Order: sequence, then C-alpha cells, then structure tokens
Amino acid sequence: MLQLEGLGCGYGMFQAVEDLSLELQPGRITGLIGANGAGKSSTLMCIAGHVAMTAGQLRFEGQDIGQLGPRERVKRGIAISPEGRRLFKDLSVEDNLKVGGLIHPTSCYAQDRDKVLGLFPRLGERLHSLAGNLSGGEQQMLAIGRALMARPKLLMIDEISLGLMPKVIDLCYRALEQLRRDGLAVLVVEQNTDRLLRVADDLCVLESGRTVWKGKAADARADATLTARYLGLH
Ligand code: ATP
Repeated sequence: MLQLEGLGCGYGMFQAVEDLSLELQPGRITGLIGANGAGKSSTLMCIAGHVAMTAGQLRFEGQDIGQLGPRERVKRGIAISPEGRRLFKDLSVEDNLKVGGLIHPTSCYAQDRDKVLGLFPRLGERLHSLAGNLSGGEQQMLAIGRALMARPKLLMIDEISLGLMPKVIDLCYRALEQLRRDGLAVLVVEQNTDRLLRVADDLCVLESGRTVWKGKAADARADATLTARYLGLH
C-alpha cells in the first residue's frame, strides 16, 4: 500500500532520517522503534506530509505522493495520531471527532463516530466533555479516534502507550488488532518494545536516523544481538 524508498527527511540542513526503505501493507501492523531522537516521529510526520522529504520516493497505492500536501494525503487515506496527541483541548470530544472527518470527501459523521465508539466505548460517555478534561488514556483514545474519522487506509500512531495504564494500553492494542482485521495498514511508534512485539507483524529499528534492522517481528525476537542491543529484551 505504501512504499518508502531511500526516504530522507529533516529540518533545514539537519537530516533526521536517511535512506529509509519500508513497505506497509493492508492488514499488517508495522512497529517503528529506536531511542529518543532516532527519527521515528519525523518519519511519521514526513509520510503525513508535515516534514519535508529531502530524498527518496514515497508511493501510496502505486502513486507518487511525495509532492502532495498533508490535506491531499488525508484525502487519499493517510491519517496520523501524532506525538503529544495534539487534541483541540477547548473543543468537546464530539467536535474533535468531527474535525477528524472534515477533510474526507465522503465521510459520514454518525456512521464514522459509531465505529470509533465501537472501538472505544468510553468516548461515548464523554462525548460532551472538553478534550482537555479527559484522562490521559481517554485522550489517547480520542487522538486515535479522531484519526480514524478520516477513514484511513493507513493509520499511523506515535507513542501509542506512553504514560498510559496497562488496562488502557491493552484497550489500544485490541483496537489495533481490530483495525488490522478490518484491513488497515498500521504503523506504530512504541517505546514498550515487548508489548509491541506481541502484536506487530513487521518491525523497523532506527538509530540516529538510519535503519539498523528491518524484518518480521517474529524474527526480531530470535535475533540475539538485536534483542540485547536495541530491544531491551533478554
Ligand atoms: P522521540 O522518541 O524523542 O520523540 P524520535 O525517534 O521520534 O524521538 P524525532 O522526534 O523524529 O525522533 O527527532 C529526530 C531528530 O530530529 C532529533 O535529533 C530531533 O532533535 C530532531 N528534530 C525533531 N523535530 C525537529 C524540529 N522541529 N526542528 C529541528 N529538529 C528537530
């Protein structure tokens, strides 16, 4: 569905990511991990069109989308739940969800909202609360829900479990598994490698903007050097 070939991106003269090649497929969850500053968020933001691409090719459903702006990419089916969630804190949950669907040409609020509430029933009880008054877990559900309102084919989630209680983390991962069954391609940035590897199909490990490992998540666990050096698993 999405092919990155030799992707580079950065800020001014600074290269945050270099020579990244990755293929994201429908019905598969890809994990993107690496230490702080490795370039994970930059990669997601570059795919979404918010960070400048400095090299390589970005193809979505066979078409070159490297020159398209973020809006056009959303219309094609690429949505992001960004680092820090960036909710509209002074708007209600309902209005945040509405904003998520604004750009999509054929979105239907009631239908799309019900789908999100099916994944995250708790949001249904908070529809009229301000987003800024939600708990951290509820805010994460809302950030993912808002992205889903754009009816994405590719959903990207940055820092899916950061700061969340185990119960909420489980809920978010169950939602991911449902989205995979629905045929979405999912790209997830995660610090909790152990948790990620229990559901991810594919994995990419970044270090200082460069790819140090890429392959099936099941193979990652079996790679002793990788687990000791990058995954923090023993
Ligand atoms: P973290 O887990 O800390 O979010 P990350 O792997 O997501 O890290 P990025 O946020 O993509 O990494 O950052 C990659 C590099 O780009 C870092 O050196 C960071 O300082 C730099 N960087 C990120 N955002 C900007 C920006 N807006 N302007 C300049 N440099 C930036």
